[in-house]
Order: sequence, then structure tokens, then C-alpha cells
Amino acid sequence: MSTEELNPFVMAQRQLDMAAEIIQLEPAVHELLRWPVRELHVTLPVKMDDGSTEIFHGFRVQYNDSRGPTKGGLRFHPHETIDTVRALAAWMTWKTAVMDLPLGGGKGGIICNPKAMSPAELERLSRAYIRQVGRILGEDMDIPAPDVYTTPQIMAWMMDEYSVMRGYNVPGMITGKPLPLGGSAGRGDATARGGMYCIREAAKKLGLNLQGATMAVQGFGNAGQYAALLGESLLGIKTVAISDSQGGVYNPHGLDAQAVIAHKNDTGSVVNFPGADNISNAELLELKVDILTPAALENQITGDNADRIKAKIVAELANGPTTLEADKILYANGSYVLPDFLCNAGGVTVSYFEQVQNAYGYYWKEAQVHELLDEKMTAAYHAVAEAAEKYHVDNRMAAYVVAVGRVAEACKLRGWV
Ligand code: NAD
Repeated sequence: MSTEELNPFVMAQRQLDMAAEIIQLEPAVHELLRWPVRELHVTLPVKMDDGSTEIFHGFRVQYNDSRGPTKGGLRFHPHETIDTVRALAAWMTWKTAVMDLPLGGGKGGIICNPKAMSPAELERLSRAYIRQVGRILGEDMDIPAPDVYTTPQIMAWMMDEYSVMRGYNVPGMITGKPLPLGGSAGRGDATARGGMYCIREAAKKLGLNLQGATMAVQGFGNAGQYAALLGESLLGIKTVAISDSQGGVYNPHGLDAQAVIAHKNDTGSVVNFPGADNISNAELLELKVDILTPAALENQITGDNADRIKAKIVAELANGPTTLEADKILYANGSYVLPDFLCNAGGVTVSYFEQVQNAYGYYWKEAQVHELLDEKMTAAYHAVAEAAEKYHVDNRMAAYVVAVGRVAEACKLRGWV
């Protein structure tokens, strides 16, 4: 089977295996890190609006908690599987470690179709999940956050249910909450902002002048929109191409991101933005630009198109946009990839700041959040860049090497292996 067809957990294990070989991880440590330390499968009866009862199935995976309580999002999705949740929990473990946060990695999911459910049904499902999974959650155990199709409102219901179970307020048991319930300033643009700090450091290393440098952005939701806006305001980057699920637009002289957002809000898509040419998503990926920022879906740069990618920097805001085969081709062709679990770690980092503020009961100003995020991203980028040079590997493998090394060290210091 080609690596491009693998189930996500097998792929996560293969990536770990490669890093383990490079740093010559002891067999027991390696085997420990190939598996989640703990997982809970739950069955949830929920009263629907029509008076019937539906039975839902959910999971919470705590992959590794050697460096601190596990942390990771909760997904509501009709095609959720335990293997997807395991893989995502493994990736969260490496992401928190590469960012040097005092956290482990976890993930959760419920098999459901949130688009077909009313807000009241979603609330009852969210509360039912916490009544079952709450026994293994807590600020010192495992802290969920929003992910695919879960929202700040869902986090608020979950925090409330958990607080009712405990008998007191526990805002820090979950992050991504609405601001009035203890959310953090600066969470909205954190993922893209962290990515921009990473691009800034990479450009310094590559000797690339970012003033007027060109960028193509695939996907124009939370991550993509802020990437285009912050690329310009923080770094002077000119976004020349933008796409969403309907297609893309291109203007070599630059696109006004704010105007493209307004056009998308009015028409439902970036397509037909005045003064730009319509292009396909495939064409966008292959444009001659300085920076390509995938911010949509997984598996966009594959063995089929990697040879035609011309960008000097590929900044992965999306999770898993590049397949293992494509990685090898990009590395050989000299494209500088900022791998997803480094480049898009700004979100989890500000989630961690939210947890810290909840513990303090004292809230920071947005400027403080930005400054601390910059410090964390810059340190993480340089740790990865150094490992890439030391081991002569691409940045993704270097990020694994740094992260796996840190988790392995914690497991050993605890005397687990
Ligand atoms: P979003 O739902 O806000 O936006 C997704 C965008 O991708 C939309 O504009 C959609 O039209 C577009 N899209 C969908 N299918 C597409 C296709 N085939 N081609 C081109 N565009 C397509 O999602 P988001 O929060 O911006 O997340 C985007 C990616 O970033 C995901 O991979 C997500 O896992 C990752 N990510 C996001 C965050 C965050 O804090 N938002 C954090 C870490 C990682």
C-alpha cells in the first residue's frame, strides 16, 4: 500500500519510526511512544427534539502525558474513527513538545452530524459527553479545545457541565471558550500569527526579503484570511492568489485581503473577485510565488504535483497538506517546508496561555499574548532548524526529532522506561 493511502494512525506511527531511527531511540521507549497511554470509548444516549432518543459513540484519547496534562481538540464528525483520533492525539503530543509547552497530547471525537442537529440537541450531546468523559478531564489531567465542527459555545456548555459535576467553577478544564467565560485575547488570529512569525524567521535564515515577497494562500477561512491580512501588516508580504473550496483568484500585482474577505462574505466565495483572474486550486499551488500557504485540507501537495511546486517556502497552516512522498520531492527540489505541527502551533500555544490565565484568574492584554507567542514560535523554529542541520533531514523530520526527543527524555526521567 502506498504511504498516501495509509490510515492516519499507521502514518503517524511510520513518522515516529523514522524519527526513532534517526535519534536511535531505545526499543522500549520507541514502542511506548507508538501507542496512546490511555483511551476511553463512550456511548451516549441523547434525547432529540422530536422526543426520540439517539445513541452516539465518542472517544477521548490521551496519547502521552509525560510532559504534562494532555491537551487537544474535540471533533464532531460523521466519519470520525478511533484511528483518526489516535493519530491526531499523537500529533498533538509532538506539537506541544516541539513548542516546549508543559503539556502532553490528546484528542477527542464524537461520531455525529452536527449540521443536522439543532442547537438544543448539540447542547445535550455536549453535556452527555462530559458526563462520561469528565472523569478523565481536568486542568491537571486533560484539557480539550475546539476542533472540526466544535465551537466556543460548545466549549462553554462543556465547561458548565463539568463545573456542575465538580460543584465549583473550573474554567481551565477546557480552552477556546468565549471571552466572557475566560477565553484569551488573541486566540482568533493565533494560528496564522504564529505561522507568520515562523515565516519571518525562515526568511532570515534563507536570506529572503519579505517586503513585497509574493504569497499564495489556499483556503480562506480562519487560518487563510488571517494569513493574508497579517502577512501584509506584519511582514509586508503581498498576497497574489487566494482560493476556497469553489476555486481561486490571482492578481500578480497583489490582492486586497480585506476586500476579498468582503467579496467572500457577500457572494459566498472568493471566485470572481473584481480585477483578478479566476484560477483553479491546482493552479494556485503551482504558481511561481515566494511563499505557498496551504490553509485548507490535508493531502493537497502529493507525489503527483510536488514536482511542479515553485514556492521557496511552504508554510503549512493546514494539518497534513503534504504527503510523505511529496515531502521527499520538495526537499530534493529545495522548497523550504515549515511543517504543520510547528507552523500552525500558534493556536494551541494561545490555548495554553488561556489555561495559564484561568489558573491565575488574571487576564493579559492582547499585546502581551502576541509577545509571548512570538517568543515561543521563534524558539521552536530555531530548535527545528538546528536539528535539520545537525541530522541533515528536512524540517518535518527535524521537528519530529526535537519533539520525540523531548517526550522520550520525560518518559525516561519519570522512570517509565
Ligand atoms: P475554516 O473552516 O475556517 O476554513 C477552511 C477554508 O478552506 C474555507 O475557506 C474553505 O472554503 C476552504 N476549502 C475547503 N475545501 C477546499 C479545497 N478543496 N480547496 C481549497 N480550499 C478549500 O478552517 P480553518 O480553521 O481556517 O482551518 C484550516 C486548516 O488549518 C485545517 O487543516 C485546520 O486543521 C488547520 N488548523 C487551523 C487552526 C485554527 O486555529 N483555526 C489551528 C491549527 C490548524
